Amino acid sequence: MLATLNEVMAYAEEKKIAVGSFNTPCLESIEAVIAAAEELNVPVIIQHAEGHGRVIALEVIGPAMVAAAKRAKVPVCVHLDHGMTMECMKEAMEMGFTSIMYDGSTLSYDENLKNTRAAVQLAAEFGASVEGELGSMGKRETGAGDTGAGADDDTKIYTDPELAAAFVADTGIDALACSFGTTHGLYLTAPRLDFNVVTGVRARTNNIPVVMHGGSGVSNEDYKKAIEAGVRKINYWTYMNKAGGAAVKEYIDALPEGKVPFFLDAMVSVREAMKNDVMRAMKVFAGVEA
Ligand SMILES: [Zn+2]
Repeated sequence: MLATLNEVMAYAEEKKIAVGSFNTPCLESIEAVIAAAEELNVPVIIQHAEGHGRVIALEVIGPAMVAAAKRAKVPVCVHLDHGMTMECMKEAMEMGFTSIMYDGSTLSYDENLKNTRAAVQLAAEFGASVEGELGSMGKRETGAGDTGAGADDDTKIYTDPELAAAFVADTGIDALACSFGTTHGLYLTAPRLDFNVVTGVRARTNNIPVVMHGGSGVSNEDYKKAIEAGVRKINYWTYMNKAGGAAVKEYIDALPEGKVPFFLDAMVSVREAMKNDVMRAMKVFAGVEA
């Protein structure tokens, strides 16, 4: 069933866990994520980044995400990730998205504040939730992060808990994406995470749910620490994408000499591999050992 981010975050807060937020830029990924959530009986977030439009348009994949969420046996929040424009956020909510992220992290504090407030106002008309961002993770999902550049990124700015307190109070957002050492895309060196940022933000904001971006490729131990510190939503994609890619290779490598590979057969393997990877992540996020 469809759920807002607020509803899913309330569940995470009560259980002291994090809910996974998975990118679903194709039908196989939507089915893999929802099947995994149903099998483990946990709520889940499926998301589409505004910048993923180069892979598939929001108006094509968005309605499929909403339809899949409605027929799911568990609460599913349908979320727009890294919304950059009011037009795109409005379009997503008009097609039934229950949550949006406004990403003004590259703007000045005042511009980010002004636009995030406008996003909160717009979302209220639809009964949707809003995730804001303060600080910078550096690379975007839509940019260099996808090419797997290294974790040392000098455009990364850690979130300032004092500033975050003012930002949350002045915008009325429902969740805050914080920069505390994670990176979008593949990690080439182990990330060094500063959990004091998370605990500092939580202490000054009446425990706003903190969102971890660049959440795949983090060690189980660091996931545990992040959740203990107050991370309640973990964005996860790169390693799920990698699991799907490995399944394609395995399928082709296992074909007998001269046998033609079929896309549909590969797709079934991809869906299964993604589901298994997502289930492993969900177990860690829910505090159940993988
Ligand atoms: Zn992100």
